[in-house]
Amino acid sequence: MGSVIELGPAQRAAVKQIADSLGLPSLQRGWVWLAGAGPGDPGLASLHTVHAITEADVILTDALASPELLRLARPDARIVDAGKRGGKTSHPQAATTRQMISFARKQSRVLRLKGGDPFVFGRGGEEALALVKAGIPFRIVPGVTAGIGGIAYAGIPATHRDTNQAITFITGTSSNGRAPDLDWEAIARGSPTIILYMARRHAAEIAARLIAAGRDPGEPAAVISNASLANQVTTVTTLKALGEAVSAADTPAILVIGENVRLAAGLDWVGAMSGRLLDADPLGRNLLSQTG
Ligand code: SAH
Repeated sequence: MGSVIELGPAQRAAVKQIADSLGLPSLQRGWVWLAGAGPGDPGLASLHTVHAITEADVILTDALASPELLRLARPDARIVDAGKRGGKTSHPQAATTRQMISFARKQSRVLRLKGGDPFVFGRGGEEALALVKAGIPFRIVPGVTAGIGGIAYAGIPATHRDTNQAITFITGTSSNGRAPDLDWEAIARGSPTIILYMARRHAAEIAARLIAAGRDPGEPAAVISNASLANQVTTVTTLKALGEAVSAADTPAILVIGENVRLAAGLDWVGAMSGRLLDADPLGRNLLSQTG
């Protein structure tokens, strides 16, 4: 989104100036930074992440990390595509970890760039532990995760006093490829809002389990594809129809189940920019929550 201009030394110098003026650390030789790039909109990357992009000798990037941001990399930086999409391993995890370690041992400044937040369903923990084992110094740069920042681009607040006092983040696909083996009864009972990552394949099964455990089939649910990007699409549906909605949606998609989905009718600020009228009372309360 926004006009695209050539990025070069002047832009990198400007980033350095901002980082220095704030006293931010530099990506040092022999170090690895595991950094989140946010869900897609390059504006959601943190200053630490942007700073590291301008400094890195090597950038190992995920498929989901914003390609726009990489335009800030030095022209001589080595960019390695270490992405995995939809469970298909285009670049095996072990190879990524090996490369990260070997570049760091050669005293490169290594940036491992991941979509969203590196510690949220992103294997950041595994990769960082491999660095610990290899004795390589590292920094973690948290990012805006799809399940919070992505849904905010659909006008859905992660929490809202009138709809949900708790939220649960769930991966729809566990490492064996199946739906995760969780206590669905407890989740259905205890979690008013459920966010599903990587749930394309098993959304229908998960929805059926939640309904079997007592959730209302008519409960609102949303599928947000390409959240925060220009091609973002939000489908508001019901828990019962969630599986169908997901199959029809583009990937990546983040799923929300819960009453907070209703707030999109009032808070879809992206839609409002292209003319959607916002309802100031999306929960039909006719009054705001008591303040204080
Ligand atoms: N570390 C990432 C999640 C990686 S798992 C994070 O914190 O966001 C990959 C899953 O994240 C996708 O299957 C999808 O469910 C979700 N996702 C990531 N980016 C997304 C986007 N822009 N729009 C919708 N879903 C997204």
